[in-house]
Amino acid sequence: MSIDQVSPSRLRADGATYDGGAFPRVDGPPTAMPGPRRRQVALTGAIVVAPLLGLAAAIWLAWGHAITWTDLLLTLTLYLLTAFGVTVGFHRLLTHRSFTARRPLRLALAVLGSMSFQGNVIDWVAVHRRHHAFTDRPGDPHSPYRYGTGLRGQLRGLAHAHLGWMFGNDPTPAARYAPDLLAEPAMVRIGRAFPALCVLSLALPAALGWAITGTWYGAASAFLWAGLIRIALLQHITWSVNSLCHLFGDRPHRTRRHDRSTDLWPLALPSLGESWHNGHHSDPGCARHGRNPGQIDLSADLIRLFERLGWATNVHWPTSRPRTGAATTGR
Ligand SMILES: [Zn+2]
Ligand SMILES: [Zn+2]
Repeated sequence: MSIDQVSPSRLRADGATYDGGAFPRVDGPPTAMPGPRRRQVALTGAIVVAPLLGLAAAIWLAWGHAITWTDLLLTLTLYLLTAFGVTVGFHRLLTHRSFTARRPLRLALAVLGSMSFQGNVIDWVAVHRRHHAFTDRPGDPHSPYRYGTGLRGQLRGLAHAHLGWMFGNDPTPAARYAPDLLAEPAMVRIGRAFPALCVLSLALPAALGWAITGTWYGAASAFLWAGLIRIALLQHITWSVNSLCHLFGDRPHRTRRHDRSTDLWPLALPSLGESWHNGHHSDPGCARHGRNPGQIDLSADLIRLFERLGWATNVHWPTSRPRTGAATTGR
Protein backbone atom coordinates (compact mmCIF):
# COMPACT_ATOMS: atom_id res chain seq x y z
CA MET A 1 0.00 0.00 0.00
CA SER A 2 1.45 3.38 -0.91
CA ILE A 3 1.39 6.47 1.24
CA ASP A 4 -1.32 7.88 -1.02
CA GLN A 5 -3.62 4.99 -0.25
CA VAL A 6 -3.48 5.69 3.45
CA SER A 7 -6.30 7.94 4.53
CA PRO A 8 -5.12 11.55 5.09
CA SER A 9 -6.54 11.57 8.60
CA ARG A 10 -4.55 8.47 9.51
CA LEU A 11 -1.39 9.98 8.04
CA ARG A 12 -1.93 13.22 9.94
CA ALA A 13 -2.58 11.26 13.12
CA ASP A 14 0.64 9.30 12.65
CA GLY A 15 2.58 12.51 12.01
CA ALA A 16 0.97 14.23 14.99
CA THR A 17 1.72 11.43 17.41
CA TYR A 18 5.19 10.75 16.05
CA ASP A 19 7.66 10.80 18.94
CA GLY A 20 10.94 10.92 17.00
CA GLY A 21 11.67 7.17 17.09
CA ALA A 22 11.31 4.55 14.35
CA PHE A 23 8.45 5.34 11.99
CA PRO A 24 5.21 3.54 12.85
CA ARG A 25 4.08 1.25 10.06
CA VAL A 26 1.37 2.90 8.00
CA ASP A 27 1.47 0.48 5.11
CA GLY A 28 -0.18 -2.60 6.66
CA PRO A 29 0.97 -6.14 5.94
CA PRO A 30 3.32 -6.58 2.97
CA THR A 31 1.51 -6.90 -0.35
CA ALA A 32 2.82 -8.23 -3.66
CA MET A 33 4.42 -5.55 -5.79
CA PRO A 34 2.34 -4.87 -8.91
CA GLY A 35 3.91 -5.79 -12.29
CA PRO A 36 4.55 -2.24 -13.55
CA ARG A 37 6.18 -1.31 -10.23
CA ARG A 38 8.34 -4.46 -10.39
CA ARG A 39 9.52 -3.47 -13.88
CA GLN A 40 10.25 0.06 -12.67
CA VAL A 41 12.28 -1.30 -9.75
CA ALA A 42 14.25 -3.54 -12.15
CA LEU A 43 14.97 -0.52 -14.35
CA THR A 44 16.07 1.46 -11.29
CA GLY A 45 18.42 -1.39 -10.45
CA ALA A 46 19.98 -1.20 -13.92
CA ILE A 47 20.33 2.58 -13.65
CA VAL A 48 22.08 2.24 -10.29
CA VAL A 49 24.30 -0.73 -11.12
CA ALA A 50 25.43 0.17 -14.67
CA PRO A 51 27.50 3.24 -13.66
CA LEU A 52 29.17 1.20 -10.90
CA LEU A 53 30.09 -1.51 -13.41
CA GLY A 54 31.55 1.28 -15.53
CA LEU A 55 33.60 2.42 -12.57
CA ALA A 56 34.94 -1.10 -12.06
CA ALA A 57 35.76 -1.38 -15.79
CA ALA A 58 37.54 1.97 -15.74
CA ILE A 59 39.67 1.01 -12.75
CA TRP A 60 40.64 -2.21 -14.55
CA LEU A 61 41.41 -0.42 -17.84
CA ALA A 62 43.15 2.54 -16.24
CA TRP A 63 45.44 0.35 -14.13
CA GLY A 64 48.92 1.64 -14.93
CA HIS A 65 47.61 4.37 -17.27
CA ALA A 66 46.96 8.00 -16.39
CA ILE A 67 43.58 9.52 -17.19
CA THR A 68 43.95 11.75 -20.26
CA TRP A 69 43.26 15.49 -20.27
CA THR A 70 40.48 14.90 -22.80
CA ASP A 71 38.71 12.49 -20.45
CA LEU A 72 39.22 14.80 -17.48
CA LEU A 73 37.84 17.89 -19.25
CA LEU A 74 34.88 16.01 -20.74
CA THR A 75 34.08 14.47 -17.34
CA LEU A 76 34.22 17.81 -15.54
CA THR A 77 32.18 19.63 -18.21
CA LEU A 78 29.45 17.01 -18.38
CA TYR A 79 29.41 16.69 -14.58
CA LEU A 80 28.84 20.43 -14.17
CA LEU A 81 26.19 20.60 -16.92
CA THR A 82 24.12 17.68 -15.63
CA ALA A 83 24.68 18.50 -11.94
CA PHE A 84 23.50 22.09 -12.42
CA GLY A 85 20.54 20.60 -14.30
CA VAL A 86 19.64 18.81 -11.05
CA THR A 87 20.56 21.47 -8.47
CA VAL A 88 19.48 24.65 -10.27
CA GLY A 89 16.89 23.05 -12.58
CA PHE A 90 15.15 20.10 -10.90
CA HIS A 91 15.63 21.35 -7.35
CA ARG A 92 15.69 25.14 -6.99
CA LEU A 93 13.65 26.07 -10.09
CA LEU A 94 11.14 23.27 -10.62
CA THR A 95 10.64 21.85 -7.10
CA HIS A 96 10.83 25.05 -5.05
CA ARG A 97 10.23 27.82 -7.61
CA SER A 98 13.12 29.85 -6.14
CA PHE A 99 13.19 31.90 -9.34
CA THR A 100 11.45 32.30 -12.67
CA ALA A 101 13.49 31.22 -15.69
CA ARG A 102 12.97 32.19 -19.28
CA ARG A 103 11.39 29.29 -21.13
CA PRO A 104 14.46 28.12 -23.10
CA LEU A 105 16.52 28.08 -19.88
CA ARG A 106 13.75 26.28 -17.95
CA LEU A 107 13.53 23.54 -20.59
CA ALA A 108 17.31 23.28 -21.05
CA LEU A 109 17.78 22.78 -17.28
CA ALA A 110 15.05 20.10 -17.26
CA VAL A 111 16.79 18.28 -20.14
CA LEU A 112 20.24 18.50 -18.50
CA GLY A 113 18.90 17.26 -15.14
CA SER A 114 17.22 14.33 -16.92
CA MET A 115 20.65 13.32 -18.27
CA SER A 116 21.83 12.61 -14.71
CA PHE A 117 20.10 9.20 -14.46
CA GLN A 118 17.98 10.20 -11.45
CA GLY A 119 14.55 9.46 -12.86
CA ASN A 120 12.25 11.57 -14.96
CA VAL A 121 11.91 15.22 -14.02
CA ILE A 122 8.28 15.09 -12.83
CA ASP A 123 8.79 12.10 -10.52
CA TRP A 124 11.99 13.66 -9.14
CA VAL A 125 10.13 16.85 -8.24
CA ALA A 126 7.18 14.94 -6.74
CA VAL A 127 9.44 12.82 -4.49
CA HIS A 128 11.41 15.84 -3.33
CA ARG A 129 8.30 17.90 -2.51
CA ARG A 130 7.03 14.95 -0.48
CA HIS A 131 10.38 14.84 1.35
CA HIS A 132 9.88 18.49 2.37
CA ALA A 133 6.24 17.91 3.31
CA PHE A 134 7.11 15.07 5.73
CA THR A 135 10.81 15.64 6.53
CA ASP A 136 12.09 12.92 8.89
CA ARG A 137 8.54 11.97 9.84
CA PRO A 138 6.32 9.13 8.66
CA GLY A 139 5.58 9.88 5.00
CA ASP A 140 9.12 11.04 4.15
CA PRO A 141 10.17 8.85 1.19
CA HIS A 142 13.85 8.76 2.20
CA SER A 143 14.51 9.61 5.83
CA PRO A 144 17.51 7.99 7.56
CA TYR A 145 15.41 8.01 10.77
CA ARG A 146 12.85 5.56 9.41
CA TYR A 147 14.21 2.75 11.60
CA GLY A 148 14.89 4.80 14.71
CA THR A 149 17.99 6.30 16.28
CA GLY A 150 19.74 3.17 17.62
CA LEU A 151 22.97 2.16 15.88
CA ARG A 152 21.38 -0.65 13.87
CA GLY A 153 18.40 1.52 12.98
CA GLN A 154 20.66 4.36 11.88
CA LEU A 155 22.79 2.10 9.64
CA ARG A 156 19.67 0.60 8.11
CA GLY A 157 18.17 4.08 7.75
CA LEU A 158 21.32 5.38 6.07
CA ALA A 159 21.16 2.63 3.43
CA HIS A 160 17.45 3.28 2.98
CA ALA A 161 17.86 7.06 2.60
CA HIS A 162 20.81 6.73 0.23
CA LEU A 163 19.55 4.06 -2.12
CA GLY A 164 17.14 1.55 -0.60
CA TRP A 165 14.05 3.77 -0.84
CA MET A 166 14.10 3.54 -4.64
CA PHE A 167 13.52 -0.20 -4.48
CA GLY A 168 10.51 -0.18 -2.15
CA ASN A 169 6.85 -0.29 -3.09
CA ASP A 170 6.06 3.28 -2.07
CA PRO A 171 5.46 5.35 -5.20
CA THR A 172 4.90 9.10 -4.91
CA PRO A 173 1.88 10.20 -6.94
CA ALA A 174 2.92 12.97 -9.31
CA ALA A 175 -0.71 14.07 -9.71
CA ARG A 176 -0.71 15.01 -6.04
CA TYR A 177 2.77 16.50 -5.68
CA ALA A 178 3.61 17.93 -9.12
CA PRO A 179 0.33 18.83 -10.85
CA ASP A 180 1.90 22.09 -12.09
CA LEU A 181 4.49 20.16 -14.11
CA LEU A 182 1.93 17.64 -15.35
CA ALA A 183 -0.03 20.61 -16.74
CA GLU A 184 3.01 21.76 -18.73
CA PRO A 185 3.10 19.83 -22.05
CA ALA A 186 6.80 20.50 -22.71
CA MET A 187 7.72 19.21 -19.25
CA VAL A 188 5.60 16.08 -19.78
CA ARG A 189 7.45 15.50 -23.07
CA ILE A 190 10.84 15.90 -21.34
CA GLY A 191 9.65 13.46 -18.67
CA ARG A 192 8.68 10.92 -21.32
CA ALA A 193 12.02 11.42 -23.07
CA PHE A 194 13.93 10.32 -19.95
CA PRO A 195 15.13 6.97 -21.42
CA ALA A 196 16.28 8.70 -24.63
CA LEU A 197 18.05 11.40 -22.62
CA CYS A 198 19.86 8.67 -20.64
CA VAL A 199 21.09 7.18 -23.92
CA LEU A 200 22.17 10.66 -25.07
CA SER A 201 23.99 11.18 -21.76
CA LEU A 202 26.18 8.16 -22.57
CA ALA A 203 26.39 8.59 -26.34
CA LEU A 204 27.51 12.21 -26.16
CA PRO A 205 30.81 11.63 -24.31
CA ALA A 206 31.60 8.65 -26.55
CA ALA A 207 30.98 10.75 -29.68
CA LEU A 208 33.01 13.66 -28.31
CA GLY A 209 35.85 11.33 -27.30
CA TRP A 210 35.89 9.88 -30.79
CA ALA A 211 35.70 13.32 -32.46
CA ILE A 212 38.54 14.73 -30.34
CA THR A 213 40.96 11.78 -30.40
CA GLY A 214 39.93 10.12 -33.67
CA THR A 215 40.34 6.70 -32.05
CA TRP A 216 37.94 4.04 -30.77
CA TYR A 217 40.02 3.82 -27.60
CA GLY A 218 39.40 7.56 -27.07
CA ALA A 219 35.66 7.00 -27.57
CA ALA A 220 35.57 4.08 -25.12
CA SER A 221 37.66 5.91 -22.54
CA ALA A 222 35.45 9.04 -22.69
CA PHE A 223 32.35 6.82 -22.49
CA LEU A 224 33.67 5.31 -19.26
CA TRP A 225 34.95 8.46 -17.57
CA ALA A 226 32.64 11.22 -18.86
CA GLY A 227 29.70 8.81 -19.20
CA LEU A 228 29.43 6.08 -16.59
CA ILE A 229 31.79 7.38 -13.91
CA ARG A 230 30.48 10.95 -14.13
CA ILE A 231 26.93 9.58 -13.70
CA ALA A 232 27.87 7.32 -10.76
CA LEU A 233 29.65 10.20 -9.01
CA LEU A 234 26.75 12.60 -9.42
CA GLN A 235 24.22 9.99 -8.35
CA HIS A 236 26.06 9.28 -5.11
CA ILE A 237 26.65 12.96 -4.35
CA THR A 238 22.94 13.69 -4.85
CA TRP A 239 21.91 10.68 -2.75
CA SER A 240 24.38 11.73 -0.05
CA VAL A 241 22.35 14.91 0.41
CA ASN A 242 19.35 12.68 1.21
CA SER A 243 21.32 10.38 3.52
CA LEU A 244 24.42 12.06 5.05
CA CYS A 245 22.90 15.57 5.11
CA HIS A 246 20.19 14.38 7.50
CA LEU A 247 22.65 12.57 9.78
CA PHE A 248 26.06 14.26 10.03
CA GLY A 249 27.05 17.92 10.23
CA ASP A 250 25.83 21.14 11.83
CA ARG A 251 22.33 22.43 12.36
CA PRO A 252 22.76 26.20 12.70
CA HIS A 253 19.28 27.06 11.40
CA ARG A 254 15.76 26.72 12.70
CA THR A 255 13.69 24.07 10.97
CA ARG A 256 10.36 22.38 11.61
CA ARG A 257 9.91 19.80 14.38
CA HIS A 258 11.64 16.45 13.67
CA ASP A 259 13.51 17.93 10.66
CA ARG A 260 17.14 16.87 11.19
CA SER A 261 18.70 18.26 8.02
CA THR A 262 22.35 19.34 8.38
CA ASP A 263 24.99 21.55 6.78
CA LEU A 264 27.85 19.26 5.68
CA TRP A 265 30.80 21.29 4.41
CA PRO A 266 32.93 18.50 2.80
CA LEU A 267 30.24 18.00 0.16
CA ALA A 268 29.71 21.71 -0.60
CA LEU A 269 31.85 21.79 -3.76
CA PRO A 270 30.90 18.49 -5.43
CA SER A 271 27.21 19.00 -4.54
CA LEU A 272 27.38 22.55 -5.98
CA GLY A 273 26.04 24.01 -2.73
CA GLU A 274 23.31 21.47 -2.04
CA SER A 275 24.98 20.09 1.09
CA TRP A 276 24.10 23.32 2.98
CA HIS A 277 20.98 21.29 3.51
CA ASN A 278 20.02 22.69 6.91
CA GLY A 279 20.09 26.19 5.42
CA HIS A 280 17.88 24.87 2.62
CA HIS A 281 15.36 23.22 4.93
CA SER A 282 15.15 26.41 7.01
CA ASP A 283 13.81 28.31 3.96
CA PRO A 284 13.17 25.85 1.10
CA GLY A 285 12.08 28.51 -1.40
CA CYS A 286 15.34 30.45 -1.12
CA ALA A 287 17.68 30.37 -4.14
CA ARG A 288 20.78 30.30 -1.89
CA HIS A 289 21.32 27.26 0.35
CA GLY A 290 24.66 28.34 1.85
CA ARG A 291 23.16 30.95 4.15
CA ASN A 292 26.21 31.79 6.25
CA PRO A 293 29.25 33.82 5.11
CA GLY A 294 31.91 31.70 3.43
CA GLN A 295 29.55 28.87 2.50
CA ILE A 296 30.37 28.21 -1.14
CA ASP A 297 27.18 27.68 -3.15
CA LEU A 298 28.00 27.44 -6.86
CA SER A 299 24.34 26.82 -7.78
CA ALA A 300 23.34 30.12 -6.17
CA ASP A 301 26.23 31.83 -8.01
CA LEU A 302 24.95 30.43 -11.32
CA ILE A 303 21.41 31.67 -10.57
CA ARG A 304 22.94 35.11 -9.84
CA LEU A 305 24.67 34.98 -13.25
CA PHE A 306 21.38 34.02 -14.94
CA GLU A 307 19.76 36.97 -13.16
CA ARG A 308 22.44 39.39 -14.43
CA LEU A 309 21.96 38.02 -17.97
CA GLY A 310 18.23 38.63 -17.66
CA TRP A 311 17.42 34.92 -17.99
CA ALA A 312 16.20 34.59 -14.38
CA THR A 313 13.79 36.94 -12.59
CA ASN A 314 11.83 36.99 -9.34
CA VAL A 315 14.76 35.33 -7.57
CA HIS A 316 14.15 34.66 -3.90
CA TRP A 317 17.41 35.72 -2.24
CA PRO A 318 17.97 35.50 1.54
CA THR A 319 17.80 39.26 2.02
CA SER A 320 14.44 39.63 0.31
CA ARG A 321 11.23 39.29 2.25
CA PRO A 322 10.16 35.65 2.72
CA ARG A 323 7.67 34.82 0.03
CA THR A 324 4.44 33.05 0.66
CA GLY A 325 2.97 30.39 -1.58
CA ALA A 326 6.28 28.93 -2.80
CA ALA A 327 6.16 25.19 -3.35
CA THR A 328 7.97 24.23 -0.21
CA THR A 329 5.73 21.70 1.39
CA GLY A 330 4.35 19.72 -1.48
CA ARG A 331 0.66 20.34 -1.77
ZN1 LIG B 1 16.35 17.02 3.05
ZN1 LIG C 1 14.53 20.93 -1.45
